[in-house]
Amino acid sequence: MTIRILEPGAVVGVLGGGQLGAMFASAARRMGYHVAVWDPDIDAPAHQIATHSFSTAFSDLSSREQFANIVQATTVEWENVPAELCRWLEERCPMRPSSKVLSTLQDRIAQKQFLSSRQLPVAPFAMVESGDQLAEAIARLGCPVVCKTATSGYDGRGQWILRTPADAKQLETIMKQPGSSQRWIVERFIVFARELSVLVVRNEGGEFRLYPVVENWHEQGILRATCVPASIDSGIAERAKEVSLQAVAALQGVGVFCVELFHTTDGDLLINEIAPRPHNSGHYTLDVCSVSQFEQQVRVTCDLPLGETRLLGPAVMVNLIGEEVRSVMSAEGCSNLHSTPGAVLHLYGKQMIRPGRKMGHVTFTGPQEELVAAAAQKFMVNLGTSA
Ligand code: ATP
Ligand code: MG
Repeated sequence: MTIRILEPGAVVGVLGGGQLGAMFASAARRMGYHVAVWDPDIDAPAHQIATHSFSTAFSDLSSREQFANIVQATTVEWENVPAELCRWLEERCPMRPSSKVLSTLQDRIAQKQFLSSRQLPVAPFAMVESGDQLAEAIARLGCPVVCKTATSGYDGRGQWILRTPADAKQLETIMKQPGSSQRWIVERFIVFARELSVLVVRNEGGEFRLYPVVENWHEQGILRATCVPASIDSGIAERAKEVSLQAVAALQGVGVFCVELFHTTDGDLLINEIAPRPHNSGHYTLDVCSVSQFEQQVRVTCDLPLGETRLLGPAVMVNLIGEEVRSVMSAEGCSNLHSTPGAVLHLYGKQMIRPGRKMGHVTFTGPQEELVAAAAQKFMVNLGTSA
């Protein structure tokens, strides 16, 4: 029997070169692969780790040829890479995830329509392309609602909460602005007890691995912290894993996927969204799992056997957002952090600090959940004052 794997020494391509691409590239390099990174931003962190760097626009046809000639398989670190480029690449080399999966997931309307067509639970939603449709959607769903641009949003950008029908006026004005999105999804605002997420790894043959359910806290739409394991009963954890796997299997997804869920105050689980790539809420896997989400991405892209997803101990991951990163850059701040047992610092090497930009993260680890949570809590309180 021939084993169809991409052997170490091969070149693996990654579209997008942010911190997720950099962490993927580090894992790939460690495992003996070369990495071709394509990101139009020359300062994107993954370029520093690449064997081959492409910093042209994704529409550049000669780069596309060169990239395809170098790589033996390709993955993405960002779902918004042009699906057309992925379609073209996948005629030349394996593309994980496929362009079909990317085009379904990179459009919030297509994604929600797909999930509901498969009877997977999502918040009630409506597609909106005009002010009139917005009024109808609000009347049908009832306020409050969340309006999101159909494409390109991340970290809560391109989202508005409308608390009363009168708030729609403001959004209608935004919709009329030149260059504004023409397609929106309006969702019922979900009152949730907690937000959860599940990483699902699935290969060509339909084999899969599930990571433990984690709990996420957001601040102004941006992930603030992730705690693993989530403090939920085992019945909810099983249901969360089951629905996440069902969603990825329905997509016939091949790659690493993160399924974000709302656990409502009524006890229901609703899928918020699915990312077809490693996820910020899975960064803890680097420090407290036998195989990280990035190594799994290498494995699934190269057709290697999938890795185990064993949790070695509890963890809390705290993001360093914008100016907060300065708190660990000073002599005092970084010395304090490195004196904290079990604290692991990851800095992404981004040149520019901008409000809301993810600059790094810290994973607090240790043998006892309470101690890990207390260390993370203390760190977060000081972040607010020292940033
Ligand atoms: P990210 O890039 O961080 O995953 P995003 O910009 O793609 O985020 P969402 O995940 O849809 O956008 O929303 C960000 C956050 O806003 C959610 O994690 C949740 O806290 C809140 N949110 C989104 N949709 C709803 C909803 N229908 N009801 C209540 N809260 C919501
Ligand atoms: Mg999200």
